[in-house]
This record gives sequence, structure tokens and C-alpha cells, in this order.
Amino acid sequence: MAQEEVFKKLIAHSKEYGYIFPSSEIYDGLSAVYDYGQYGVELKKNIKEYWWNSMVLLNENIVGLDSSIFMHPTVWKASGHVGAFNDPLIDNKDSKKRYRADVLIEEYREKLAAKIEKEVTKAKKRFGDSFDREQFVATNGRVLGYQKQIDELTQRFQTALENDDLVELKQIIVDAGIVCPVSGSKNWTDVRQFNLMFETKLGSVSSDANTIYLRPETAQGIFVNFLNVQKSGRMKLPFGIAQIGKAFRNEIVARQFIFRMREFEQMEMQFFVRPGDEMKWFKHWKEKRMNWHKAMGLGEEKYRYHDHDKLAHYANAATDIEFKFPFGFKEVEGIHSRTDFDLSSHQEFSGKKLQYFDAELNKNYVPYVIETSIGVDRTFLMILANSYTEEKIEKENGKIDERVVLKIPAALAPVKLAVLPLVKKDGLPEAAKSIINDLKFDFNCQYDEKDSIGRRYRRQDAIGTPFCITIDHETIESQTVTIRDRDTMNQERVPISELRTILSEKVSMRKLLEAI
Ligand code: ATP
Repeated sequence: MAQEEVFKKLIAHSKEYGYIFPSSEIYDGLSAVYDYGQYGVELKKNIKEYWWNSMVLLNENIVGLDSSIFMHPTVWKASGHVGAFNDPLIDNKDSKKRYRADVLIEEYREKLAAKIEKEVTKAKKRFGDSFDREQFVATNGRVLGYQKQIDELTQRFQTALENDDLVELKQIIVDAGIVCPVSGSKNWTDVRQFNLMFETKLGSVSSDANTIYLRPETAQGIFVNFLNVQKSGRMKLPFGIAQIGKAFRNEIVARQFIFRMREFEQMEMQFFVRPGDEMKWFKHWKEKRMNWHKAMGLGEEKYRYHDHDKLAHYANAATDIEFKFPFGFKEVEGIHSRTDFDLSSHQEFSGKKLQYFDAELNKNYVPYVIETSIGVDRTFLMILANSYTEEKIEKENGKIDERVVLKIPAALAPVKLAVLPLVKKDGLPEAAKSIINDLKFDFNCQYDEKDSIGRRYRRQDAIGTPFCITIDHETIESQTVTIRDRDTMNQERVPISELRTILSEKVSMRKLLEAI
């Protein structure tokens, strides 16, 4: 099945099973804004807990913060967002659709790269075992032609971005013959800058002086509180401040479901270090964050680093952790070495000293910062897309059954176990409820007695419940139940008295945290 097809099914499945709903759906929705349903909110909560514990619980020198969404408007001048948080946009005059010029160019570059891969696949088939990829791409005329186009395009694109040259960005689109995906035409407007921050007014008098912004990132709340936390917590460098919270961006290209939203949530940690030590810590966090991802078990080959070609104005090193989504490798997390840009800038704009006294060096200085910044929603999409599986199962009578199963890592799954009485009589429902009453203090449990046991298993598969406990007549006789594993569908009989210990081991977040 084509990946696009899978993605469409995933979106439909998320809605049908209470993970994600379009916002204000009865009014036909609001573009790029989504609501999390009864299971979605649990998965989201578990993702945040996993991240929070990996930072605040496991590191003595990292503490949390919950700063407000509204901030003094000068914060965004100091951070550079008022002047430079722009996307270059371009409109197609025929379809009236708006695009990000840089995204159009990047997508075109990906298409060229895909053409190379197509040639490679064809050649591989032709040459069989003797195929040497390296030699082929270095000598094949067509491949070399595409590669030359990619190199030239990349060179022009980078220079245009570095110089904020909007005329050249448009010229690249024209020269490459990029067409609008909707109208198919090359009838483009000029490229313009568009600020991504949402504005609103503070108080009852509406004037420009009262304009404030919905924060486009949570990081600035950390920077402006740097001294508060450092002093009140008597923190010594190196130390970090972690925060989870909503962020808002008026994205131009708001497609791909919850990948790019206008209201989303970030998990950010700013790690303050001694100037000169930043590269050591950049490397440290680059590795640690990748370990955090890998511990979830989604597949190591699905991740890669992407070091930035063009560094942001504040950074001296930056990398993205990219994940292979159904629509290709895309960023889920950024790790940036931000130098002393933010603190120095706030120092300048506020006129307040934001310095640290280093007793060892007997000196005051503005610390350097390593930032790790990951989107909750993108992480959610990464887990959900990776979990969605359609399986054909051969039944005992030889018939083929189908099931859709969300293979969400057990520690993150919304519901940990379902307790299912085989029949609605003979004391089985009572036995099931008594087990739930005991286990509900430790795990998110669900009770279900409706329909055949097979259909109930399918329902739990569809929401990703890792374990189903079935109560049968033997339960009453021997105080045992069966545990069915979502992924293998194997069943095992165990004493009720051991359930808590067995399940704790299987669904605990501890194993994930230990692997970081
Ligand atoms: P992109 O290049 O995809 O626009 P970005 O480089 O602007 O992302 P950052 O500013 O580094 O993103 O934000 C850190 C993280 O926040 C991203 O890695 C992503 O997971 C998340 N994020 C950013 N923008 C959005 C959005 N519009 N919707 C959902 N998540 C987002």
C-alpha cells in the first residue's frame, strides 16, 4: 500500500478511535488545529511524562518550570522574533494557493534525489548481484546530470537564504520550472516575508502599544527566568531548566495532520554551561536525545541526524533528529548550541544583568546555552504512524481474519490492560470488576463485556492496549486468568495474585528511562 494511503487511513483511524479530532468539527474544523480525544490525551500525557522524567527526574542538575504564554512584548524583540521570525511565502496566481518558497524548493530537490534513486533501483535489477552502487552513481550520465542540478540548486538556495534574498528565491523557482501542485501553473507572485507570530491586545484599550504575542516557542520563558531559578535553587553551572507548554505559530503551509499545527506543544530544555564548554555539551545532548528516541523501540533505522547547512542567527552548532514519517524523513527535534545570544540580548533590552558568578574561576559571565527542543505532537504522530499495523491472521478454520493494531510501546500506551469476562454470567463479571478495583490504582484499566471475545480483542488492538486479561470459568476455580499479548496474540495463564508484578514489569517506563 502506498504510504499516502496508509497515512489517510491513520488519520481516519485516529478519529474513529478517539485519538485526534479536527478542532471545532461541527463548524467544519479550523485549519491546522486539532483536539486530542480520550485516548489521545492519555498517550500525550505519557509522552510528556517520559520526557519530563528523562530530564527532571534523572538529572539532579535539571529543574522544571511552567512560565506563562503571554510575555512582555520586548521579549520578542530581544529574541529576534519580531524582526526575523519570518517565512518566505509565494502565491500561485491561478490556484490562489500560498506556499513557503523554501519548502517548494526543498521538495523539488527531493524529487531530483528520488529520480536518482529510481535510476539506482532500475540498474540494480539489471545488474543483479554484481551491482556496485558507488560506481554507478559516480559514472552514470543521467545520475550525474541530476546530481549536478541538485548541487547547483543547493548552492543557490543556501546563498539566497543566507542573504535573505527574496528575489533570488523566486528566480530559483522560475528557473527550476517549479509548478503549483494544485493548478499546475508557473504563474507565481513575488516572494514576501510573513511573520509567524499571532498578535493579540492586552487590556481594554486597543492600541499598538498594547500588542502582545502568543509565544511561538517556550524557550524564552526559560531565559527570562534564568536568574530566578539559578538564585532561588542555588543552581551551579552546568544546569538545565526544562519546560513543557503550548506554542503558537501562524504557519503558512499547514498540512500533514498534526505534523505542522498552528497551536502545538513543545518540550524544551535549556542547558546553561561555561563558555567554551558548549561543544562538549552539544555532543552530550545530541547523543542523549537520540538515546531517548531509540529507547522507545520504534526502530533505530528510522532515525537520522541532519546537521544544519544554515545556522540560525543565534547558533554556533545545530542538528535535527529526523524520523522516517510516512511522508519521508522529517524533523521531530532540534538540538542547538545557542551561545550566549539569548541571555545577552535580554540583558541588553532589559538593562538587567543576567550573569552567573563562577566561584571556581572567580568571575562573572553570561552562560552559554545548549537547547533541546521537541514537539509533543510530532512525537505523538511519530509513535502513532509507526504503530499503525494492518495484519492478516489465519484462523483455526483456515479463514483469514484481518485486524488493525496500534503497536504503541507498552509503557506509553493509553490503556494498559482490558479486563474481559468471557461471558456475562456465572460470577465472571464480578471477578473481572474485583481485579480492576485492585489494579486501577496502578494502571489505566478498561472493562468490556459487550460482544464476542474476539471482537473485544479487536477493539483493544485498535486502541493499542498491550494486554487483555480474560476471565473464564477456570478463574473462579483456580484464581487464575489468561493474559493476551497484543503483538504476538499469545495467551498465558497466570495467578491473579501475580498480575500486578507481571504487568508492572511489562508496562513500566523505568526500562525506557534506564536505556537512555
Ligand atoms: P520546521 O522546520 O518543521 O518548521 P522548526 O525548525 O521551525 O520546524 P523549531 O523552531 O526548532 O522547529 O521547534 C522545535 C520543535 O517544535 C520541532 O522540532 C517540532 O517538533 C516542533 N514544532 C515546531 N513547529 C511546529 C508546528 N507548527 N507544529 C507542530 N510541531 C512543531
